[in-house]
Amino acid sequence: MKDEPKIVKELRESENLGKLSRKSEGTFQETFHEMDGDIKVLQNNLEKDKENFEFGKKVDSVCCENKELYQRLIENSSEGVLITDFKSKILFANPAVVKMFGFKSIDDSIGKNALDFIESKYRKKVIKDQLFVNAGKVGVLDTYGAITADGKKIWIECIGSTIKYKDKTANVMFIRDATDRQKTWDELVKLEEKYRILAETSVDGILTIDPLGRLTYVNPSFERMCMREKNNIIMTPFREYLSGESIYLFQHIFIDARKMNKKIENIELELIQDDGNIIPIKINICPLKKDDEFTGIVCTVRNLTEQNNIENELKKSERLKTEFMNIAAHELKSPVTPIRGYLDLIISDAEASEKVKNWASISLRNSERLLTLVNDILDVSRLDSDTMRFDMGKLNTVDILNEVAEDMKPAIENKNLEFKIHIPDNLPHIMGDRCRLLQVLRNLIGNAIKFTDNGYISIDAEREGNHILISIEDTGTGISKGELKKIFTKFYQVYMGNDRNNEGTGLGLFICREIIKKHNGKMWAESKLRKGSKFLIKLPSI
Ligand code: ADP
Repeated sequence: MKDEPKIVKELRESENLGKLSRKSEGTFQETFHEMDGDIKVLQNNLEKDKENFEFGKKVDSVCCENKELYQRLIENSSEGVLITDFKSKILFANPAVVKMFGFKSIDDSIGKNALDFIESKYRKKVIKDQLFVNAGKVGVLDTYGAITADGKKIWIECIGSTIKYKDKTANVMFIRDATDRQKTWDELVKLEEKYRILAETSVDGILTIDPLGRLTYVNPSFERMCMREKNNIIMTPFREYLSGESIYLFQHIFIDARKMNKKIENIELELIQDDGNIIPIKINICPLKKDDEFTGIVCTVRNLTEQNNIENELKKSERLKTEFMNIAAHELKSPVTPIRGYLDLIISDAEASEKVKNWASISLRNSERLLTLVNDILDVSRLDSDTMRFDMGKLNTVDILNEVAEDMKPAIENKNLEFKIHIPDNLPHIMGDRCRLLQVLRNLIGNAIKFTDNGYISIDAEREGNHILISIEDTGTGISKGELKKIFTKFYQVYMGNDRNNEGTGLGLFICREIIKKHNGKMWAESKLRKGSKFLIKLPSI
């Protein structure tokens, strides 16, 4: 070959080259063949090579003077130093190389072919890189897979150069063990793969948006959501897919996320699909930062269409349920009113016998229970469907408390219980529904009467900052700590044993607490088993 570069020629003509093993020889020939196209580049570089050679000579003379120092440096270096001829036969290896490649000793490594320790798929690359180094491109660096003499897979990072070694030009490689770094890298790649799979399979849409508001990544769910293909979405502004009002809102939260550098969640927007259909979505956004600089946001998008449909269906069925409850309650209550009227007549009828009067009063008591039950169920259903009406107004707290005390006094005295009333005259007013608040207080005092056989029942009120604290206390059965947590749940009744016939519904306290909540107040209970209970209500004053 006329224009054959010096290096290739040297390679062909070299008599000192060691015999290549067969597998390396094949790769070598192939690479030369492929390199034909690069020969022109190599030739240019070879001109420089001459200069390098001259420079090398100078370096050599300096090295000779400091031979011992360099020798020590190379022996103690943690970096491998490997010198090979142009066919990769090892001419010299420092202890670091011996250790890295699992050779028995330096002598054991000499004469071996370095290429035999390179993983087969990297061999071609090593030869090419070496040829470039030989042609004057000092310092080509790459990472290759290698197999040590004892069969271990390692990763090596190499910088190559040419030097004069024992009067001949040779390759020198500085080799670093990159196995740990490569392992970390592999793990990172795996991790990234894991997150990629997560994003690609997520039911929610996932997207990233750059600081200019353009979409830089969208997952398949988002493609489906807006009925467009990824290629047509990437690098388009996200606002293009939002309805008018949503654009304004999104731009605001985008600026907020950037300014405050914090997550913003549960923003409801409208997304325009490719066919012009508008769907409701809920987004969460999280700002992205690199080196403390805002690089955009990650955004998750949930399609709310199905959820909204279900909610609407639920609301519809809730409305139907309430309507049904209202009608049923009305129909149940209407016959009770005349029944109670006639029972009252029998009880007050002078001609009726005591026996009949007794039967009538039992029936009257039970018809009242029926009425309470119907009213309670109706209240629960109204509270559940948020349809309970409240006629709010400014109320005189003292009047209400005195009224309820007056109402309940006879029943308390009937049970021979002491009634302690402490209602200061100067209590502030409250905002509330008079009937509903009276219902709560009657219920609480009613319970106290029901569960107290000895001692007292008390009603107290006091101002506490901007609130009024009302407490109803008794010395009755009390409630255990475990039960106390449950008494405010629907239909919950504490088991009292067969000897106490509790005629309630288990709905009263639930209703009371919900009513107080609607007044922006709080209700809770304190109790000690067999000592008594205290029910407390805190309402904002005006
Ligand atoms: P009920 O209609 O059964 O009274 P409530 O919701 O009003 O339903 O009360 C739930 C349960 O809480 C009652 O069944 C009872 O076990 C307990 N309870 C309520 N008030 C008192 C009280 N003052 N003393 C003891 N236990 C009470």
